[in-house]
Amino acid sequence: SPAPTSDFVRDEIRADIEAGTYGGRVQTRFPPEPNGYLHIGHAKAICVDFGIARDFHGSCNLRLDDTNPDVEDVEFVDSIQEDIAWLGFEPASVLFASDYFEQLYAWAEWMVEQGKAYVDEQDGETISAQRGGYGKPGVESPFRDRPAEESLAEFRRMRAGEYPDGSRVLRARIDMQNENMQLRDPVMYRIRRSHHHRTGDTWCIYPTYDWAHGQSDAIEGVTHSLCTLEFRSNRPLYDWYLAQLPLETTAPKQREFARLELTHTVTSKRRLKSLVEDGVVDGWDDPRMPTISGLRRRGYPPTAIREFCSYIGLTKTNSRHDIELLGSFVRTHLNRTSQRRMAVLRPLEVVIDNWPTNEDGTPTVDHFDVVNNPENPENGMRSVPFTGRLFIERDDFAEVPPPKFFRLSPGREVRLRGAYLVTCTGVDKDEAGEVTRVHVTMDPESRGGAAPDGRKVKSTMHWVSADHAIDAQVALYERLFTAPVPGERTGDPMDDLNADSRELLSAKVEPALADTAPGEVVQFERLGYFAHDPRTPMLFHRTVGLRDEWANIQKR
Ligand code: ATP
Ligand code: MG
Ligand code: MG
Repeated sequence: SPAPTSDFVRDEIRADIEAGTYGGRVQTRFPPEPNGYLHIGHAKAICVDFGIARDFHGSCNLRLDDTNPDVEDVEFVDSIQEDIAWLGFEPASVLFASDYFEQLYAWAEWMVEQGKAYVDEQDGETISAQRGGYGKPGVESPFRDRPAEESLAEFRRMRAGEYPDGSRVLRARIDMQNENMQLRDPVMYRIRRSHHHRTGDTWCIYPTYDWAHGQSDAIEGVTHSLCTLEFRSNRPLYDWYLAQLPLETTAPKQREFARLELTHTVTSKRRLKSLVEDGVVDGWDDPRMPTISGLRRRGYPPTAIREFCSYIGLTKTNSRHDIELLGSFVRTHLNRTSQRRMAVLRPLEVVIDNWPTNEDGTPTVDHFDVVNNPENPENGMRSVPFTGRLFIERDDFAEVPPPKFFRLSPGREVRLRGAYLVTCTGVDKDEAGEVTRVHVTMDPESRGGAAPDGRKVKSTMHWVSADHAIDAQVALYERLFTAPVPGERTGDPMDDLNADSRELLSAKVEPALADTAPGEVVQFERLGYFAHDPRTPMLFHRTVGLRDEWANIQKR
């Protein structure tokens, strides 16, 4: 296997291995809360957690951090596993924080017994007001110094369901004057009568994130607990809890890296959830969504996502990457792998007036062998039918050509890709004056696309035979948010929502596209890469255009 790359996390792990800190072991975890679908930011965390375990011949578990039953659901548990597998990673084990509820509770009792935790009977508002703030002292709870036996009895009654929701909490007894607010006697347990998707109604008290997280890491034998920078201020609490417990092994260590943010994109589960719930998009896997399931449906190859994450690497400062950079990885990959096809998105009929007919008057059919992928000759050739009635893109014709327009217009000769040279002789129009049909004549000597006299044409256009074309629905996408940093202006990303982020077209496509596998991505010549919808046959989503916007941005 290749030598692990160097970054501040890997360097520290390497040092831990050399020092024998964890007996040379490396174990990580990816700990999503099953309260939504994973997004591109999570893809980075997945690449970090699983990638580091792989680089150091360690292991990485998936741990569902399911400590808040109000918002969690098995739908999300399932989608998280599907997304990780699709990205190309396999958890050593799939574990649930809820499986540790009994151990966490036992440790909490131990904390109470040691005088490190107490039951507070004040309401939530009072407790949070007493916390103070920066430069504002904290106020100790009147319950802080109650005898351990009293807290223990209260805590047991909390668990037994004797008290209403919100009437008591268990708090760690640390330091109400600490500069780090997280250490001002943080809450460890809340009373919450809520049905849990795995433990049902067994519990009416639930541990907080901070009380559950490090302890779950310790239970599993995690060595390096990697998370994003916003958890930096939780680290002292993470360490404090572990230091209080009678652990027989070396405590895990938390290290933080920068979140992945992209321009024109929101990567917050809460905001993505509201896009779904408000019907702005069709669902979590709408191809406009930066969710892993959305990117998958849009046709982003998992390899391209992994390569992108590895390219941006691990840093200690947050920054926003240009979404075109991700698009550039996607395009590079698809250029190698995708079959070329012809599709006409906004069809305009073309009639070849001198096209030969059979004895019975029906038009003859010609066939052209076309290369499937010039980047990959092993993909072979296919036969494409050609007749006297075709569709071309409406944009490829202009009755009155503007300056520098070299495509089809009256009197002008162009090449129909790989087939014939044709010259426009006239148009049919409807009552509104709209061109409904274009008439051309072809040069029979130009079969294959070149004239024997070597004359040149300025334009080559794609086409489909009208008699053989099949109908397809094509969805074109623009960015979901117009601003590079959604919400920067007003604080609300929804103010930067692009109202026109999707255009649906009724296209005419070549017959070979009927054989496209669900989920397969093809290149529509001259138009871009398009992903066949995994569920709806003959619905194609534009993955990315052909032009590398990232290269242009770099040139500027
Ligand atoms: P969000 O903030 O989007 O609601 P979250 O942080 O609540 O997501 P979790 O399910 O708790 O999501 O996150 C699981 C792991 O993924 C955590 O370790 C978290 O640090 C990491 N993660 C979440 N968002 C990003 C991101 N944008 N970039 C990198 N890692 C992320
Ligand atoms: Mg979370
Ligand atoms: Mg978060």
